[in-house]
Amino acid sequence: MNGNDAYRRLSFWHDTVPGSLDPATQLTEDTEAEVAIAGAGLTGLWTAYYLSKAIPGIEIVIVEREIAGFGASGRNGGWCSALFPASLSKLERMAGREAAVAMHRAMQQTVDEVGKVSSEEGIDCHWAKGGTVQFARSPAQLQRARDEVAEARLFGFGESDVALLTAEQARDFGQASDVLGGVFTPHCAAIHPARLVRGLAGLLRSRGVRIYEGTEVTRIEPGRLVTSGGTVSARHVIRATEGYTPGLPGARRAIVPVYSLVVATAPLPDAMLDQVGLAARPTFCDLRHLIIYGQRTADGRLVFGGRGAPYHFRSAVRPSFDRVPAVFAALRSTLIELFPVLEDVAITHAWGGPIGIARDWCASVGLDAATGIGWAGGYVGDGLSTTNLAGRTLADLIAGNDTEITRLPWVGHRSPAWEPEPLRWLGVNAGLRVMSWSDRAETKTGRPSRAAAAFGRFTGS
Ligand SMILES: Cc1cc2nc3c(=O)[nH]c(=O)nc-3n(C[C@H](O)[C@H](O)[C@H](O)COP(=O)(O)OP(=O)(O)OC[C@H]3O[C@@H](n4cnc5c(N)ncnc54)[C@H](O)[C@@H]3O)c2cc1C
Repeated sequence: MNGNDAYRRLSFWHDTVPGSLDPATQLTEDTEAEVAIAGAGLTGLWTAYYLSKAIPGIEIVIVEREIAGFGASGRNGGWCSALFPASLSKLERMAGREAAVAMHRAMQQTVDEVGKVSSEEGIDCHWAKGGTVQFARSPAQLQRARDEVAEARLFGFGESDVALLTAEQARDFGQASDVLGGVFTPHCAAIHPARLVRGLAGLLRSRGVRIYEGTEVTRIEPGRLVTSGGTVSARHVIRATEGYTPGLPGARRAIVPVYSLVVATAPLPDAMLDQVGLAARPTFCDLRHLIIYGQRTADGRLVFGGRGAPYHFRSAVRPSFDRVPAVFAALRSTLIELFPVLEDVAITHAWGGPIGIARDWCASVGLDAATGIGWAGGYVGDGLSTTNLAGRTLADLIAGNDTEITRLPWVGHRSPAWEPEPLRWLGVNAGLRVMSWSDRAETKTGRPSRAAAAFGRFTGS
C-alpha cells in the first residue's frame, strides 16, 4: 500500500480531499531557517501563513512526521466555531472581566477570519456559516441551555451572539427528537477540514515555505529542532504538535491526549434530508455532558462524533486507538436516537484522533523570549478556529509586534503539568466515566447530575 492509500483511510475527509496524499520531500541534511516549526497541522501552518505575510521573504521550515493535515486538523468534526475551552467565568477569574470578553470576541472574529482567508486564497473548504444549534432534550439539558445564555448575558453578549430557543424554534433548525428547547449561536461554520489544511499547506509551499514530511522531530531545543533527517537551526522554534506533544522529550505531562471518534453516513436521499433539516448546515449537538457534535456535509451526509473512548496509560497515542468499534456503535445509535429517520442509513466511514487537554482545561499560546521557543495548544477539541488565532498571535510575537491579540489572556499562560501515572490514567478515565453516567442518570431522572457538576469543578470550568 502506498502512502496515498494509507492516508486516504484516515478519515472521510482524507478520503475525499483533492490531490495526492503521498508524503512530500523528507529532510535529509542539516539546514537553517529563521523559524522552525514542529508539526504541519493548522497551528503550524497558520503560524507560517501569517509570518510570511508579516515578514515577506522570511525563511520558514516546517517538519512533519507524517503528512500535512495528518493529525486532528485533517480529521475533526469540521466545526469552525468561536468556542474556547475556558468559559467566560473561568477567564474572568484568571484575568478579569474585560480580558474574558476580549478573548471570546476574538474567537468570534477568528471564525470570520478563517472564512475570509480561505475565500481570498481560493481554498474551497465547503464553508457554510450556518451557526450552531444545541438541542436541549431533557429538563436538565434545558436548564443548562438557560444557564449558558444567562452567563453570556452577564458578560454583555446579546441575542445576536447567543439566543435561547423554544422547542419549535430549535426544530426549525433540525428535526431532532425529544426537543424541549435549545441554544443558537451564529458564530460557527461547517467546513471540510482536510480541504482547509491541505489547501493551506499547498499555498504555503507555493510561497516558498519548506514543509518536510515523513520526518520526525526528536527534540525541541533553544535554537534548533533535532529531527530524524538532520537538525534545523533557527532563532525561533515552535512546538505545534497538540495531541502528540507527550511523545516529545520533556513534554510528557504537558497535555493529555484524549480520543474523539467520528462516523460519517452515506449521502442521504433528498427526501430524508428534508426530514432531517439542517438546511443551512448549522453544526449541531445536544447539551449532554459527554460531548457530541455533528454537521451536514456539502454532499448531504451527516458527520457525527463524540468523546467516550478511553484515555491510554502514559498518554500513549497509536493508530489502533483511532478505531473503537463499541464507540462507533454508540455514536451510530445516538445519531439514530437524535434523527430516527436515519435508522437504515449506512455508515461509510469511521475514524478518530487525539485532542490535547491541558491540566487546567485552558488553551495557551506563547513565545519564550529567552529561549526563542514558542508553543500553542491544549485546545480541548475546539482548535479548528483557535489554531488560526494562535498562528496570528505567534506571528505577532515573533515579529515583535504588540497588538490586541498578543494581550489576550491565553497568551503566555502556563498550565500546570498533569499528574504522574497512574494518577493521570485514573483521573482522566474516571472523569470520562462520570460524564457518561451523569448523562444516563439525567435521561432517567430529568434532574441535573451532581456528579457532573462536581467534575466541572475539578476541571475548573
Ligand atoms: C476527532 C476530532 C474531532 C474534532 N472536532 C473538532 C471540531 O469540530 N471543531 C474544533 O474546533 N476542533 C475539533 N477538534 C480539535 C481540532 O481538530 C484540533 O484542536 C486542531 O486541529 C489542532 O491543530 P494542531 O495543528 O495544533 O494539531 P494537529 O492537527 O494534531 O497537528 C499536529 C501535527 O504534528 C505532527 N507531529 C506530532 N509529533 C511530531 C513529531 N515528533 N515530529 C514531527 N511532527 C509531529 C502530527 O503528525 C500532526 O500532523 C477535533 C479533534 C479530533 C481529533
